[in-house]
Amino acid sequence: MRWHAGLVDRPEIGISFAPELRLFVASPRREGRTTVRTDGASTLGHVVESLGVPLTEVGALLVGGRPVPDAHVPADGDEVAVHGVTRPQQLAGPPRFLLDIHLGTLTRRLRLLGIDAAYENPDVGDAALAARSAAEQRVMLTRDRGLLRRRELWAGGYVYSHRPAEQLRDVLSRFAPPIVPWSRCTSCNGLLHHATKASLHGRLRDGTEHSYDVFAECADCGQVYWRGAHHASLNAVVEAALHEFGPSSANNPSTSLM
Ligand SMILES: [Zn+2]
Repeated sequence: MRWHAGLVDRPEIGISFAPELRLFVASPRREGRTTVRTDGASTLGHVVESLGVPLTEVGALLVGGRPVPDAHVPADGDEVAVHGVTRPQQLAGPPRFLLDIHLGTLTRRLRLLGIDAAYENPDVGDAALAARSAAEQRVMLTRDRGLLRRRELWAGGYVYSHRPAEQLRDVLSRFAPPIVPWSRCTSCNGLLHHATKASLHGRLRDGTEHSYDVFAECADCGQVYWRGAHHASLNAVVEAALHEFGPSSANNPSTSLM
């Protein structure tokens, strides 16, 4: 009795994706539920990824309403629901980030909020980015879906919007990093420490030295910051982030330097 074998060997399954995942799926399959014939051996994680959805963006996988791991091998007739990540997303370590070259503005805004945000120069390839994510346990933030499929990544996050303001809200709501404004160098990601006027003497223009009293200096690159020098747009970024996302109770706002 082998007349049924073809069906058993190549199971047909139904998959529905959460709305926020549908942009990754090839357009004819985007709406609601789709059916797929698998090879009978591939894991559900592989099937989801082969439909274009990076696993970094996937939360719960349900078969018939029950949660299954990525390694589940779908059987004929399985009805799969693919959920997006729950927010805030739990990480295996402190939230720190690595951003690709297209996210320079987002990088500076994260640093402005005191969030550890490393940034790679344009010459570095996907392999080097993924290796750094793994070595330093940084969440790779990118709009490059191919990069998010790299197995070496410690963790990854797709940045949905083109607009920096929306990108920042996306990252803050997804990973809930503690916000400590004015504590990190926006140029190099180094930590700021208090600096006295005396220690900076000769490095400031006269007007600056006479007009301001609170100074901070980057421990890594030596860039000097002073209270009052912030452009109104930077203040607006900080105020908006604090209003919506923090500072969290776990975070001591008094560690802010400026
Ligand atoms: Zn610096």
